[in-house]
Amino acid sequence: MSSRSKRKNKCYWIKGKSFDEIKRKAEFLNKSWSKLKKELIPPEVTITFLYQNEYAPLIGTICDEQVKADDAWKFPEWLNDKIGGLTPEKIEKLGKRGLRELLEEYFKNKWPSWMKEEDKRDYLERIPKHILDTMRLLKKEGVTPATMFENREYTAAEVYLMLRRLPGIGPKKAKMIAKHLQLASEDILGHPWFTQIKAKNPEFKVTGIITPPIDVQVVKVFCRIFGVKRRNWKVVKNDPDLIQDIEAFSMLAFPDMPATIDEIFWNIGREYCKEEDPRCSECPLNNICDYAKKKQASST
Ligand code: SF4
Repeated sequence: MSSRSKRKNKCYWIKGKSFDEIKRKAEFLNKSWSKLKKELIPPEVTITFLYQNEYAPLIGTICDEQVKADDAWKFPEWLNDKIGGLTPEKIEKLGKRGLRELLEEYFKNKWPSWMKEEDKRDYLERIPKHILDTMRLLKKEGVTPATMFENREYTAAEVYLMLRRLPGIGPKKAKMIAKHLQLASEDILGHPWFTQIKAKNPEFKVTGIITPPIDVQVVKVFCRIFGVKRRNWKVVKNDPDLIQDIEAFSMLAFPDMPATIDEIFWNIGREYCKEEDPRCSECPLNNICDYAKKKQASST
């Protein structure tokens, strides 16, 4: 990428802002969380099959990138019905080719409109391999996604690194699951993976601090509440300056559990903060959103 394009996608959210204003936004998010957590429910929490099959939450996690989250998390149940059970043996029997064909069939009418053909091909190449390699690894270790954890308390960092070993689990997904297991440990928000681990290991719990996973939804909502309307979010999410700023802001808003910011921004991004036409008048963050204020001022 040229340095001009890099500059164009730079997100100078903090420059010229008063610290009082930054702090006010962080405090608003903290105060709003108790209400938001009841309203902003991620799709995986509501899908019954994810509570019933030990491999389903992990397969859903591996699938959950680029495509719509609801579709990713519903794939394990569809696959289970298609092959008559979701086990490492059945998946190994399919092989990478068979799994790819089924994934392609499932997503035939579900690809997001914004996904390029080359990205679809890349997804169909990588995801079946990741699922297969992960099943093989778990089988070799003689554990399932639920029994890979012992009956004890873990730090979020331990969980992150245990998950990162698995093929197909990058930093973002490992942080996402560590955060969900932590939120479930605190009885803030349920999660199927946590419910399954806890059923086998009643002492299982995740504590400690982990920084939020950074994805397109997080950078978009973060930048917009500081007045930045549009950027190439896929590029912006890799800006190391912005990542560090979001991490610092998340610690200001939620000193005990900074990853909470991802839970809010991801859900707001998905439900309200649409790329082309954000639903600002209904958005729970419009009170602190500089972009929404600019938009309203320009329409009056
Ligand atoms: S108020 Fe509008 S721009 Fe701001 S976060 Fe909500 S939907 Fe996005």
